[in-house]
Amino acid sequence: MQALVLNGEWDPSDSYDVSERERRTGTAMDGSSVWKHPELRVEEQDRPEPDEDEVLVRVRYVGVCGSDLSMTAADGDGYMHYSAYANLPNVVGHEFSGEVVETGTDARLFEAGDLVTGEVTDYCCRCRMCRQGFHGHCENFEQVGFTVPGAMAEYVAVPEKILWDVSSLSRAYDTTEEVLRAAATVEPSTICYYGMYGRAEGVVPGDYYVFHGAGPIGLTGMNVARAAGAGMVVAFEPSDERRAIARDLGFEHVYDPLDRDPVETVRDATGGEGADVHVETSGAVEATYPVIEDTLAERSNVVHISNAGSNPSIALRKYQGNAAQIYGSEGHTGQQVFPRVVRLMAAGRLDNLPLITSTFDLSDAEAAFDRARERVDGKVLVEV
Ligand SMILES: [Zn+2]
Ligand SMILES: [Zn+2]
Repeated sequence: MQALVLNGEWDPSDSYDVSERERRTGTAMDGSSVWKHPELRVEEQDRPEPDEDEVLVRVRYVGVCGSDLSMTAADGDGYMHYSAYANLPNVVGHEFSGEVVETGTDARLFEAGDLVTGEVTDYCCRCRMCRQGFHGHCENFEQVGFTVPGAMAEYVAVPEKILWDVSSLSRAYDTTEEVLRAAATVEPSTICYYGMYGRAEGVVPGDYYVFHGAGPIGLTGMNVARAAGAGMVVAFEPSDERRAIARDLGFEHVYDPLDRDPVETVRDATGGEGADVHVETSGAVEATYPVIEDTLAERSNVVHISNAGSNPSIALRKYQGNAAQIYGSEGHTGQQVFPRVVRLMAAGRLDNLPLITSTFDLSDAEAAFDRARERVDGKVLVEV
């Protein structure tokens, strides 16, 4: 089968302490300190065999994610940008949809023909974190497309416990093609969903939301917030193309933060009340946090999603004075998140199809990455 494979060279930097586990498993906990010269290529591989508890999925669509891009980018010394978990060489891709074609001997949840999407993190259910319900922070985790083979391939074998059925999307979409295109956007939609409703507390219908950054994660998050009854959604995004996509999705309050004062803009839009929910999806935290802190509504929830490379100074007095709180949020595992996002889509309340602005064939997947690097799309999909 065809597969998009990321290769690299294991060469830990002098300042990085390689742990016993990293040495044993070949999985770097900080890819940016260990993997050099990342290189992406479409290769011919054997079709995977599902383990006992896995099912084999014939992949139909896979989204190109910001994390995929950062695994393929390198700094001046040749180290990949991606600072989280990676084991190379590996088939990339984790935002997928497809059809079950084969089930392992101990797999019971699915049968051939089922349409599915999947979570990224596989968890062991036995470690200290898992036993306390924090499956997303499993101490023996694997991640599809990062530490084990991903979905930018004709087939992917996935543990059935992290797959979800998406056949209910046929209530909202007329064709299987549309169902599968929409299903490939479930995973990015869960990132903000988990931050806003799994992590933050007391976010209620009618809340005013401000999204700082309207890339793929911000755009899907805005769609989720609207579906969940936002009183208003304001977004700041410097890319002209992405602001146009946000407007096409029906959002009115979409602004270029470089073109007008964001603090005044939020005050105007909210009648001086400020934002009940701030969602940081840009990573430009030195610019966004001063804005957030000057536009906190009483009891505002700040949901921190982005993987920021720097640390802004935080004006604690403003959080204290407004009874505001910051919630860090990583990933999307557990907390009912995946099935809830699927329900919103099936109900016709969350439609991400207009956000998919480019589609490439798997054989042309490298071009899909080039396109995604331009950062002008809502979502770039690879079709298998
Ligand atoms: Zn992703
Ligand atoms: Zn575990």
